[in-house]
Amino acid sequence: MSSLSDLTIIGAGPTGLFAAYYAGFRGLSVRLVDSQPDLGGQITALYPDKYIYDVAGFPKVLGKDLVANLVEQAMQYGPEVLLNEEIRSFAHLADRTIRLVTTTGVLLTRACLITAGIGAFAPKTYGRAEIDQYAGRGLHYAVRQKSAFAERRLLIAGGGDSAVDWALNLVPVARSITLIHRRDQFRAHADSVRKLAASPVDVRVFHELRALHGNAHVEEAVIVNTKTKEETVLPVDAVLAFLGLVSNLGAIATWGLVLDGDAIVVDTRMATNLPGVYAAGDIVTYPGKLKLIATGFGEAATAVNNAAQYLNPSAALFPGHSSTVMEKRAKTGGTGGGA
Ligand SMILES: Cc1cc2nc3c(=O)[nH]c(=O)nc-3n(C[C@H](O)[C@H](O)[C@H](O)COP(=O)(O)OP(=O)(O)OC[C@H]3O[C@@H](n4cnc5c(N)ncnc54)[C@H](O)[C@@H]3O)c2cc1C
Repeated sequence: MSSLSDLTIIGAGPTGLFAAYYAGFRGLSVRLVDSQPDLGGQITALYPDKYIYDVAGFPKVLGKDLVANLVEQAMQYGPEVLLNEEIRSFAHLADRTIRLVTTTGVLLTRACLITAGIGAFAPKTYGRAEIDQYAGRGLHYAVRQKSAFAERRLLIAGGGDSAVDWALNLVPVARSITLIHRRDQFRAHADSVRKLAASPVDVRVFHELRALHGNAHVEEAVIVNTKTKEETVLPVDAVLAFLGLVSNLGAIATWGLVLDGDAIVVDTRMATNLPGVYAAGDIVTYPGKLKLIATGFGEAATAVNNAAQYLNPSAALFPGHSSTVMEKRAKTGGTGGGA
């Protein structure tokens, strides 16, 4: 059994990381738990090498650079970090302490902030052994490092933002790119689709992947025209398939939280219906909710400050401006303000 923490944050995506910083700033003892092996949530798992353009203060920022900064900011107050740990079950004990059962143990906490995004998630795979056997041998369901595709002949499958954005992103490094999509309508942003049409990417609509061939590694892809059934064999070095995400709330759905579909309903304090349990980021819903990194940051600050007041009802909701609080702390060497 673990020691008792003030706040356990479930999910170390951008929202959870910023919440960890804010809770440390407020003087709370923090535990940050994530089922993935790395910090950074969707950004680290799905698009570390993509530029993000709508984070306040950054005209553009690479996903992995944003995560590195968030981690640096979050670690200032030394939160306990537990990775590869999924929170499975939740219970209130008689004294209102919260008991969380993880993959490997039990955590005790006075309050809890759920920033679990879209829940445990993984890219959708083809689910066909003859294709999936090439995963890690030329077949990729996410791009970790753009440089891995330098001078490669790429086949990209998909019609959403990931497929189209990666095709555009990889144009400067790849030797050639063919993009196949089952339909002629793309789900990607209209501006990206326009850029795709003007790019050197060989776009083939009404096509899907039928088979992969190769020995140790993918060497050929067989694609089929879904209308004419005509097959084409393409020599390729790598196949990048963006078929969507499989996500589920998993055990969180059974904790007694009020849900709207797969999202947790919160009020303006980011409080859920369970005492001491707050939620923020992609996992929450309220009228007008937008699933953005920027909104997650604001929600994290609101949730943490309200959780701080739940933990200590005599504490102020507003912690003071960090610029002023930190100046005071530097002068007095104390923890004044913020706590
Ligand atoms: C391809 C792509 C491009 C995007 N581009 C942009 C963009 O340009 N601008 C923008 O604002 N947004 C963008 N987004 C959306 C953005 O990434 C999300 O809004 C953001 O990641 C949400 O952050 P979060 O911390 O709330 O959740 P997440 O990033 O989903 O993190 C949640 C974390 O919780 C963990 N978790 C889940 N369940 C459990 C559990 N039971 N126990 C422990 N851990 C758990 C997960 O492993 C995950 O690490 C993009 C998304 C994608 C897929």
